[in-house]
Amino acid sequence: MDFAAIIVAAGSGSRAGGGLSKQWRTVAGKPVARWSIEAFYAAGAKTIVAVVPPQEVDTAKALLGDMKGLIFAEGGATRAQSVMSGLRALAWDDEIVMIHDAARPFLGMGHIRSLLEGMEGADGAILALPVADTIKREAGDTIVTASRDGLWRAQTPQAFRISALNVAYAAWSDAEAPTDDAGVIEASGGKVRLVPGDPMLMKLTYPEDFLMAERLAGSARITRTGQGVDAHRLGPGDGVWLCGIKIPSDKALIGHSDADAGLHAITDAILGAIGQGDIGDHFPPTDPQWKGAPSHLFLKHAGDLVRSAGGALINVDVTLICERPKIKPHREAMRSKLAEILDLPIDRISVKATTTEGMGYTGREEGILAQAIASVETPA
Ligand code: MG
Repeated sequence: MDFAAIIVAAGSGSRAGGGLSKQWRTVAGKPVARWSIEAFYAAGAKTIVAVVPPQEVDTAKALLGDMKGLIFAEGGATRAQSVMSGLRALAWDDEIVMIHDAARPFLGMGHIRSLLEGMEGADGAILALPVADTIKREAGDTIVTASRDGLWRAQTPQAFRISALNVAYAAWSDAEAPTDDAGVIEASGGKVRLVPGDPMLMKLTYPEDFLMAERLAGSARITRTGQGVDAHRLGPGDGVWLCGIKIPSDKALIGHSDADAGLHAITDAILGAIGQGDIGDHFPPTDPQWKGAPSHLFLKHAGDLVRSAGGALINVDVTLICERPKIKPHREAMRSKLAEILDLPIDRISVKATTTEGMGYTGREEGILAQAIASVETPA
């Protein structure tokens, strides 16, 4: 049976972290959106449209442009508008279209075959899973247990007769945007059949979903370690920034940015672990835009680079070397701050301090030295 596919890859996916939209991040070294497009090709899709954010067309073409015959369409402000854009890009309307969220990479031939069989005598067929968990509903300041009888979780792909879907979207009048396409057919009075879904068709939404996806993909992982060292000179001022906390003082660290030696050392440790140079490569001190910059931006960037590479931070450990200010009263605040910037549990973060017993430039209080180590897990 002939069918077309529309891959909806038009979201910004900011909840997944990692800087890049989630459909362009990799699982087992392959962009998320590419997984299901390959599955549709393998299953014999006649036409495939990738609906991508208008501002990310170049990214999409760089990552998917080698896929023969793939049509790119620009997404809209809502998912429904993106689907309609994909429907317009199809040059024919007499058969079946499968609409699929790019963020569900583990699409297989079996899912596609089940949907095509499910379309027999129906306007649509969707993959869905029975609700297994007990369902609670908030009711004021208490909760009640809701019946889960007859409740299903809808997944994608969802298959439709293209003509029926076009008509249903044209007739859609609700002010509220539909959350899936089957809802539009249902509203138009069309018949949608449930086909057994698959937990493997999980939707990647949060950072930890990417870790699970890597494990499901069976990709080999390795642990890497990086170190970072940074020192800044002390001068007169109104406080010393260390590990994202401003410690009251009549001194300050001197530098192009806020001179937070702790954050700089951790940033370099993370960059070192993923072989991405050092902080100066990413934020050149000659660039005026980083003058006085808060250094948490640098650290966040390093954490985002790890996630974009399909990796995850394991832990960071920093040692601050100075006579003053005393670090201990601020240590927990520093750990909390680092946990927040890196989006890591606090038990993965260590802040330590020592003095050099009056010896050397730290002992003479001319400057503060920071040394850090970071471990990350990445695809092999
Ligand atoms: Mg520095």
